[in-house]
Order: sequence, then C-alpha cells, then structure tokens
Amino acid sequence: MDALGEFVSRLASLSPGRFVTAEIAIDYVERRTKFSLAGFVSELNALLPALKPFPLTIDGLADWSDQAHRALRRTFPKAKYSPEHVELITPSGALYMRRKWAAVEPIPGGSASDQLAVRIKKDSDLAKAYSAGEPGLAKLYEVRAATCSGCVRSYLECACTSLLDPDLAVQVNDCDLLGFMWTSRPAR
Ligand SMILES: [Zn+2]
Repeated sequence: MDALGEFVSRLASLSPGRFVTAEIAIDYVERRTKFSLAGFVSELNALLPALKPFPLTIDGLADWSDQAHRALRRTFPKAKYSPEHVELITPSGALYMRRKWAAVEPIPGGSASDQLAVRIKKDSDLAKAYSAGEPGLAKLYEVRAATCSGCVRSYLECACTSLLDPDLAVQVNDCDLLGFMWTSRPAR
C-alpha cells in the first residue's frame, strides 16, 4: 500500500489526468484476496491516505471494507454517473478500463508532420459522436524496440520508468500501429 501510495503521489504531481488501475493480492491462510482499485490518479492520491492498512487476517476484511466505504464517501461527493461494476471488472477480479476498437483507417501517404490523419465513415456513430465532441481516439502501437535515454539500454528491459521521470525520454526504434481505440478518458 505504501509503494502504491508513493507511485500514485508522484504520478499525480506529473500527470493528474492519468487513469490508473491497480490490484494487490494477499494470500491469507484461508484464501487469496484481491484488492482492486481504479480511478484518476489525482482521485486515488486523495483516497489512499484515508484507507487503513490491509487487514492482517481474513477476519478483518469486513471492517476494512466498511472503513474503505466510509473513506470513499468522505473523500468524494456522490457521483452523478458511476460506471457499472460489470463495465470495469474482469473475470479475474481485476478492474480494467475496456477500450473499443474504432473503425477508422489511417489515410495512406500521411502528412509531413507527425500528426496522423484518419478517415472516419460519414454518418457512422463514431462520426456523430466525434462531431459532438464526445470521444477521442487513442493510437495503439506495438513497440518492438525502444531506447531509454537514462541508461541507454533497451527501455523494454531496463528498470527506469518515463512515467515518473519527466527528464527521461524514450526513443521508439521499431513499432507497428495496430489501430485506434475510442477513449473518453485520454491520458494527459
Ligand atoms: Zn533505463
């Protein structure tokens, strides 16, 4: 919990708009119990200090859950819209923001800048939603090779993280654009 708190606190100061999911599993004698969290990093940063340490035995789970519920109610106003749990939860119990593929095609030839042009089918749901300013598009890449500016080794193998170090740059050497996903919560 302390390590997660430190990570969230640092990330909140650098990119408060990031959406973070985390899962911590504890093997109690009776069974493995998973604690899953999801939220914008600034919100998790406000919540984590209000949570008690995880219970030492499984008997403490009910009290811990009650306290966590009270901490949530104290920390945040009642939300107008809350995603259903089934929208976020996976069969393993982890919380996960599902993305949907967007039916768009990069325009061949591209532009001279590093901006990527895409074609969206006229009158499609995506075109309507996009013109209403609702979702954004997130590019999804498969990165095969990248160099870390911190240790000048492969970023895929080194222990550095550009998320938490604004001075660290990652040079992508080899990647494939896999497609585009809808997002109403782009990383900032
Ligand atoms: Zn590195």
